[in-house]
Amino acid sequence: MTRRVGLLGKPLKRRHSQVMHDAAFDAAGIDARYVLLELEPEVVEDAVATARASDEWLGLGVTAPYKQVVASLVDEVEPDARAIGAVNNVVRTDDGRLVGFNTDAPGFRAGVELAMGRSLEGARVVVMGAGGAAHAVVYACLDAGARSVVVANRTVERAASLVQQFADVGQGSLTAVGADDPTLAEALAGADLAVNATTVGMIDPGATIPVDRLGPDATVFDLVYVPAETPLVAAARARGLRAANGSEMLIAQAAIAFERWTGVGGMADVMREAVAPLLADPTVRA
Ligand code: NAP
Repeated sequence: MTRRVGLLGKPLKRRHSQVMHDAAFDAAGIDARYVLLELEPEVVEDAVATARASDEWLGLGVTAPYKQVVASLVDEVEPDARAIGAVNNVVRTDDGRLVGFNTDAPGFRAGVELAMGRSLEGARVVVMGAGGAAHAVVYACLDAGARSVVVANRTVERAASLVQQFADVGQGSLTAVGADDPTLAEALAGADLAVNATTVGMIDPGATIPVDRLGPDATVFDLVYVPAETPLVAAARARGLRAANGSEMLIAQAAIAFERWTGVGGMADVMREAVAPLLADPTVRA
């Protein structure tokens, strides 16, 4: 029997996950395929029940707009996913239970620590954005022992609500500001790390972080991975700063999920090689 992992979402425009997981199944000698399930909302509950009912299914990937609804349909949600408020992967246990987990936070941590060349512990961080990805980023920073996190968002109310949600995570200070708040310049000047967790650079052109405000030792991390060199990454590099896009986060997330589904770790290199042509393809858009 060829086993399966299904990605639930609508629309499903990108094949990056499928390419990485299928390459890893082949490399590990596992008879399984990663299939794209672009479903209407009214059949998502049935799809989850189908995955629970048969050991043909190793698990599920979950993307927009189903991260919240799937959390309510699985048998257990792990504490990190519950804290962040989103399930983006599900593993089916041997006894047929579905357990929801979140790879955004550990994937971000792996990708950003590689980019920084150091741990997040003690870091002073500025995060632009307050959407789904920003929730995982802020949680990961605080959980990893960041000294301070300033969340800046165009809609300041969303930043304030995010800050309220994570008030009890970690020991670091956590502050919300508007994207045009004058105190943001000060936070950027003292930051070890500045993160773009908005869709700017992918959907809207331009960059959210004024890189000329950053100190010379700061790292810039852009969650956007399409295009390969985002305007923000280009500007940061032009200033001589360390900078990375979100591709290593994407790869780390896939490797973490694959290990949960199969028990086979160490697949990041296989996945990186498999997805490289897609990441480099200028015709692949958001
Ligand atoms: P989301 O929930 O829709 O949030 C979008 C965020 O972008 C909000 O903070 C929004 O601000 C802000 N924004 C949108 N347009 C803006 C503009 N013109 N100017 C300023 N801010 C703007 O999206 P998401 O799921 O968090 O995803 C954010 C990005 O992260 C996407 O590009 C996604 O591809 C990327 N991502 C990458 C990875 C990875 O593995 N590398 C993983 C997850 C997500 P308002 O609140 O003011 O609307």
